[in-house]
This record gives sequence, C-alpha cells and structure tokens, in this order.
Amino acid sequence: MKVEAKYYTAQDNHVECQMCPHYCKILPGKYGLCRGRMNEDGRLWALNYGETTSIAMDPIEKKPLYHFHPGAQILSIACNSCNMRCPFCQNWEISQGQTNTQYIAPEILVRMLKDHNSLGVAYTYTEPLMWFEYILDAGAAVREAGGKNVLVTNGLINEAPLADILPLIDAMNIDLKTMDPEVYQKTLKGDLAAVKRTIETAHKKCHIEITNLIVTGLNDRKDDIDRVIDYIASVDPSIPLHFSRYYPSYEYTKPPTSVKTIAYAYEKAREKLAFVYIGNVPAEDGSHTVCPKCRNLLIERMYFKAMIKGLDGNKCNKCGERIPVVI
Ligand code: SF4
Repeated sequence: MKVEAKYYTAQDNHVECQMCPHYCKILPGKYGLCRGRMNEDGRLWALNYGETTSIAMDPIEKKPLYHFHPGAQILSIACNSCNMRCPFCQNWEISQGQTNTQYIAPEILVRMLKDHNSLGVAYTYTEPLMWFEYILDAGAAVREAGGKNVLVTNGLINEAPLADILPLIDAMNIDLKTMDPEVYQKTLKGDLAAVKRTIETAHKKCHIEITNLIVTGLNDRKDDIDRVIDYIASVDPSIPLHFSRYYPSYEYTKPPTSVKTIAYAYEKAREKLAFVYIGNVPAEDGSHTVCPKCRNLLIERMYFKAMIKGLDGNKCNKCGERIPVVI
C-alpha cells in the first residue's frame, strides 16, 4: 500500500525528500536511496506503508534491549527499506533486496499483539525509520491498545521527523557504528553527526540502549573502541552499551571479530560505563546485569532468557542502588 510521504518539497522537475540526511532529489518515476519512496507525478509516495517482509515473536533481549521489560516477548516486524549501505549487513536480503511483503493494517497489528500477549511491537531487522508514515499510524494504535513501541534503528533521520515520531516511542536500540565520520559517510553511506543527534535527543525522551558492532578491519582498533566508549560516557555513563561480534555477511568477507578484541572492549568500557554487554560470543559472563555499586547479580541471562535475581523494583535488593531498568 502507498501513502503520500511526509517531509518533502516539490521542485521544478523533481522532489526533494527531507526525511534523512541524504536529501534525495528524485526525478519522476525514480526511487530514493532507501527504495521505500518514489516520485510519481511530482509527489513523493511511501510505497512500503504497512508492507511487511518479516514477522516473529522475539525475546526483547534479542533486539538487544536488556533494561526494558527484561524477559518480555515482543512482536517484531520489518519492511524492505534501509537508508544505509553497510557492506556487512546481516539482514541484507530484506534491507537491500526486494522480497515478498504482506500488508498488515494497524488494527490487524493490534489484534496480533493481543493474540500473542506481546509487550508491544518492535520495528526491527531493517531500518524502521524508513517506515515512518506506517509507524506513526501503527504506533498510535499500539499505544492506544496499551502496547509499547520499540525501534531498532541506525538513527539516521533528520531533526524534525525525529521530533515527530519520538512521542510514540518507548524504547530504542540505536546502532553507533563508528566514531569516524569518514567511514560512516564513505563506507556505510551514513552520517555520524545525525546519529549522535538522534542518540542525544532520544535519550531525553525514551529509554535507549546502544549497539556497536565491532567489524574486522573497519572499527576494531583500540582507538575506535575507546572513542565509542568515551562518547557514550560523555552522554550518560548509565546508558547500556552492547558490543556485538561481526561474522562475514553480504559483501564483507573478512574473518569474524577477534574474541580478544571483544574482551578488550568489554573490560575497557566497564572502566567508564555502568552497564556493558557483549553479544554473538560464546561467553555468558558479558550478558548478565550486575549492580555497578556492590556487584550483586541483578538479572541473569542465558541465551535470550532473562531471570530477575537481585532487583526490588528498579533498585538493587542488596545495596539499594537505583538501576535504570524499566520493569
Ligand atoms: S528517506 Fe529515503 S528517499 Fe528520503 S532522503 Fe532518506 S534515503 Fe532518500
């Protein structure tokens, strides 16, 4: 289904999309870089409205969100669009390709979340901000039904649309791929300044966690890792940071991230940040939540199963430290 897109201007012979920092100038009959928007007769259309390529019930830990309703299951859906071009994308078949989709109207989505006793809806797997118009409608319906809205996003969006969508969003996991603006721009087709603005703005409005995928040969030097840690610490050292191990995928064939590099990132980040996690590695130690003050085990995780052990509401049951976790 298609709807007229928000945030664009019509020019002489093209339209300019103002949803994200690409500001695509799109001629009649052509698509924007994200492939979700098309100029038809001088108007910009969001072609992917409600068009769903994937749907599943996932543990919220899989997003990953470790401090937002731990142990909950969440209905997770995706569209076919993305406004970045990461050569190592793990979901490239749906983010960069065109697969079959099924239209799910907002009221059907609400019925599904009730049928599955879901916490809400996670817009995930590809880039949900490219589903902007649908999430405005579906997110409002989910809210009205008492559900939560979760975005798993690259954070690449302009200021005005971000301000428009944030009131509907309860939690976000935002990818921070690197602190190198050139790598963001040239290799990934993103924009570091915009992603930082999204992190800092969203942090004031909803629960956020950050994921840094450490990719061999791209952002795996100590200096790359240190700069990510320093930046998160400068925003708020209690923001949970997830380091994730890369495996070869799509066009990127370098070997998986060294386990030693992941271990370095984990130990180094714990010097400055209160909650650090590691993913895609066999070790389970880096997936538990411990009290930053007394080291009491608060939430134990095995694979994607979370068990609350040492929390009394959102306080440590041993020392009383307030823990930033939404139960
Ligand atoms: S949302 Fe899509 S069409 Fe619009 S500027 Fe970004 S990449 Fe281009």
